[in-house]
Amino acid sequence: MPSANLTMIAPLEHCRSCGRPIVWARTPNRKAMPLDPEPTPRGNLVVSLTSEVLHAAMVSGPDRDGLRAAHKPLYLSHFTTCPHADTWRTKR
Ligand SMILES: [Zn+2]
Repeated sequence: MPSANLTMIAPLEHCRSCGRPIVWARTPNRKAMPLDPEPTPRGNLVVSLTSEVLHAAMVSGPDRDGLRAAHKPLYLSHFTTCPHADTWRTKR
């Protein structure tokens, strides 16, 4: 699966809380969101690169099932997977 790992298309950074690799994406309401760079079957975000900016959009239900069936890579917000997610929430 080419470019499935987001570090191929976006700068790799590290989570300030847990040190894991993340990449930054923009949500439809223009917020910055850290993503786990590796796709996962549990993911609920589709990612697209527009004008050099990574955009992440949430998918759910049949949309998500369809993407998964088509073997499209799905990603998770690092907010979901960070072992120190509580730290993130209190900071924002
Ligand atoms: Zn983290």
